[in-house]
Amino acid sequence: MNLPDQVALGTMHGKEAAIAPPLGSIGISLTVPPGLNTDAFGTFTGETSRRGSMLDAARAKAQAACEITGLAFGIGSEGSFGPHPAIPILPLGREVLLFWDNVRERAIVEQVVDQEPCFVSCIVAGYEDLDAMLARMDFPRTSLVVSPTQPGGISTKGVRSASELQAAIAKVIARSHDGRALVQTDMRANHNPRRMQMIGAAASQLAGRLKRTCPSCTAFGWGLVSVEAGLPCSSCGEPTALVQFELHGCTACEVQERSPRRDGMLEADPAQCQQCNP
Ligand SMILES: [Zn+2]
Ligand SMILES: [Zn+2]
Repeated sequence: MNLPDQVALGTMHGKEAAIAPPLGSIGISLTVPPGLNTDAFGTFTGETSRRGSMLDAARAKAQAACEITGLAFGIGSEGSFGPHPAIPILPLGREVLLFWDNVRERAIVEQVVDQEPCFVSCIVAGYEDLDAMLARMDFPRTSLVVSPTQPGGISTKGVRSASELQAAIAKVIARSHDGRALVQTDMRANHNPRRMQMIGAAASQLAGRLKRTCPSCTAFGWGLVSVEAGLPCSSCGEPTALVQFELHGCTACEVQERSPRRDGMLEADPAQCQQCNP
């Protein structure tokens, strides 16, 4: 089965800027359907919460893009941001890119983890409280969102100048009960250059993967489909929660191959072991 030359991309936040170049290099051009409201699948600012997992949201966007355009293949992307699981004072970002094959009804998924996402927030009593936060991000290249501290209020998104920011904060504070406003980085791709860069990295991975074919059925998209935990502890030999094997496979015929970790790590640090370091 040959790679398609046209693929629908389900975005309304300009993600084609990051995804089109890597896919163009393997002969795929993107069609962005007009009028697709991807906010219906979830927003970062909480007006619409995401139903299901990141993968569910990315798949829903890809399928909606196929439906509107009538194309047989679609791409959806989804990001998620929160505290780093190991070091909660640091943020962690995750980007999923899902290629949907509407003919075989199968997905090909690539993801990247961002250890340094542009994801910051703070609660302020005035514009002058923002100095520390602004020093940690590249405002106004990355936009800001100003919201009431209580959930359910109306946010001003895409704030890109100091005067706009001042006005938005003053407005929220004037209407608030606590004299405060919540200021956060805008995580929509076209407002957050760091996010766009990571989506581009995921798209490069996806392009590489689409070029790899299944050794059994020759379908495109051979690559990492799953991992198996259980890397043994270097001290006691018990299995840990760290990845031991990678499963590479084909989502068209379900053939899989098990291989050791790509980074060659064969044993886990006892610090990661439940027996040695409970
Ligand atoms: Zn151990
Ligand atoms: Zn196959």
